[in-house]
Amino acid sequence: MLYATSTESTDDREEEHSMNEAITTEAPIYELRRVTRSYGSGTTKVDAVRDIDLTIDRGEFIAVVGPSGSGKTTLLQLLGGLDRPTSGEVVFEGRSLATLKESELTQLRLGTIGFVFQQFNLILTLSAAQNIELALAPSGLTASLRRARVTELLGSVGLASRGHHLPSELSGGEQQRVAIGRALANAPDVLLADEPTGNLDSTTGDEIIAVLHQLNREQNQTIVVITHDPYVAAAAPRIVRLHDGAVVDADGSRVLEVVS
Ligand code: ADP
Repeated sequence: MLYATSTESTDDREEEHSMNEAITTEAPIYELRRVTRSYGSGTTKVDAVRDIDLTIDRGEFIAVVGPSGSGKTTLLQLLGGLDRPTSGEVVFEGRSLATLKESELTQLRLGTIGFVFQQFNLILTLSAAQNIELALAPSGLTASLRRARVTELLGSVGLASRGHHLPSELSGGEQQRVAIGRALANAPDVLLADEPTGNLDSTTGDEIIAVLHQLNREQNQTIVVITHDPYVAAAAPRIVRLHDGAVVDADGSRVLEVVS
């Protein structure tokens, strides 16, 4: 609600005013400035991503699309601190990732960034619940708090009654839900998903995307999804299109931002 009505108390209005202010003044979660990542050198040099300027706000749901080889995975790896740019800067929550030591980056990846991949990467000898609980090992929570958190996470990915099953007893879609639950275990500030529906049939893929949209809507989870699937992209509130490593408009022309 934008406007206070006459029946509200001054306190309510002051509280609402400060909440609105907090929303509007919140810094973006990511700021990418002229980011380039090159591989090789000389005649074999490839700019996997080049000169990307991109701002991502908290609570956004973004689909990154583009043909194979356009730089989607490279971009996601840079966002996740799994890789460093050759030039330019990736600023995450106000800190340039280049300034972080390897140990700080590892800490960031464990506690602040959640990853979901096309392959579910579950441990086959552990149940769904145990796969999620394993991700909570560094959290320092007591066993009972860990279990409570696992129950909550299973519920939020629609698997409340399937926690005791091994991955081999779950469908592909259910396994991907477990992987999403695991990625969310430490309440990451951002969830990065690389082709999360790539191994699933279209109906199951739609269900996974619906889970991601629900997490975004209900928990304000910031989500960046790489996808080949035009339906997945079409459902996203914001689409970032890549071509030959650069961000382009829907018609394929290069997006140039003025950088002061
Ligand atoms: P996408 O995810 O859109 O398929 P990628 O980010 O995987 O694209 O790759 C972008 C470009 O960078 C491609 O031309 C790819 O061959 C090249 N590339 C990616 N990773 C490497 C690497 N480790 N070494 C050399 N070239 C790479």
